[in-house]
Amino acid sequence: MLTRSFLTHLECGYCGEKLDPDKLWNLCPKCGKPLLARYNLEEASRAVGPQDLITREPTLWRYRELLPIRDDTYKLSLGEGFTLLLRAARLEKELGHSSVYVKDEGLNPTGSFKARGLCMAVSRALELGVKAVSIPSAGNAACAMSAYAALAGLEAHVYMPADVPKPFVNECRVLGASVHLVDGLITDCGKAARADLEKYSRFDVSTLKEPYRIEGKKTMGYELAEQLGWTLPDVIIYPTGGGTGLVGMWKAFEEMEKLGWVGSKRPRLVTVQSDGCAPMVKAFHEGKEFAEPWPHARTIADGLRVPAAIGDFLILRALRESRGTAVAVPDSEILQATYLLGKTTGIWPAPEGGATLAAFLHLKRDGWIKEGESVVLFNTGNGAKYSRVWD
Ligand SMILES: *Cc1c(COP(=O)(O)O)cnc(C)c1O
Repeated sequence: MLTRSFLTHLECGYCGEKLDPDKLWNLCPKCGKPLLARYNLEEASRAVGPQDLITREPTLWRYRELLPIRDDTYKLSLGEGFTLLLRAARLEKELGHSSVYVKDEGLNPTGSFKARGLCMAVSRALELGVKAVSIPSAGNAACAMSAYAALAGLEAHVYMPADVPKPFVNECRVLGASVHLVDGLITDCGKAARADLEKYSRFDVSTLKEPYRIEGKKTMGYELAEQLGWTLPDVIIYPTGGGTGLVGMWKAFEEMEKLGWVGSKRPRLVTVQSDGCAPMVKAFHEGKEFAEPWPHARTIADGLRVPAAIGDFLILRALRESRGTAVAVPDSEILQATYLLGKTTGIWPAPEGGATLAAFLHLKRDGWIKEGESVVLFNTGNGAKYSRVWD
């Protein structure tokens, strides 16, 4: 059967400006905020339904109609997505809680869920004629972009903090990227990358600074529903840095309801951050629309060391609309929970994944999560490259 994208336009997540999706865009030209991809969901729902998915390939491309690529020639795939959703029976016993799942995103190409977003961003950049891509990254996004750029034959430039663990640098180099090490945090890497963008006409695929990484990440929401028999869990705990995953899943739930694939019941979304860098947690509890930059950000969970996020208002909106919450946990608890997650599931989690379990323990103790409620913990990456954490 012929499949196609039902992409119709781009829409600013803040001011609502509508834009031609078949042109290259970074942020909204009117207000400088992130752009979101919109689809004709009514037509899509007539073209495809849950039963059509059963025989499709076990990658995120199974949701083809709700993804932005027009022409199959540009669909890049290294087997990303459709990752394990593990019913964590031994962890359930340990926690005295009857319904705990772990979504193991460490199984993606290059070992993290960044593969989903960059698979989509690089595919679409390729389709729209880009020749060179650039990214500031704490490590995982750099590896993912390098992989898809290598597959596509695009020039790749990655900007990482100079203290990034060596395995991330090695991987990017093997995958053919030019590695730029920057003294400072991811925000400083962003500045360095931006300075080179125009000079060398490279396309910026920073978190939420182009519209398609979120489209790749939203497939986590589609998969959760499909893997749970087109139902959604009560609670999702998600380690939040730039927020593409959280915002993407919230977008997926809205799309799936309009498609008629799920009902109106939505999970409560929980953001977890380290107390060494918790701008979203602070802004959430202060009732703010935007988050203030976090000074002296530090945590062992590199993906959470994001002092300022351009999509802050989208993260905060999703948390509030879902009647969710935000939790900050100390690194000592993150580390302990990472070991507990590992030894009860057989999954080697990234510390960001461990952070979700640390948050669960707080929320269960406080009665925010009640016995019997189904909870999904997102292990967003494989622990193997975090050499500094285990040594
Ligand atoms: C990037 C990253 C995060 C944060 O993800 P966002 O979707 O940007 O919030 C969490 N965990 C890991 C392992 C990461 O690489």
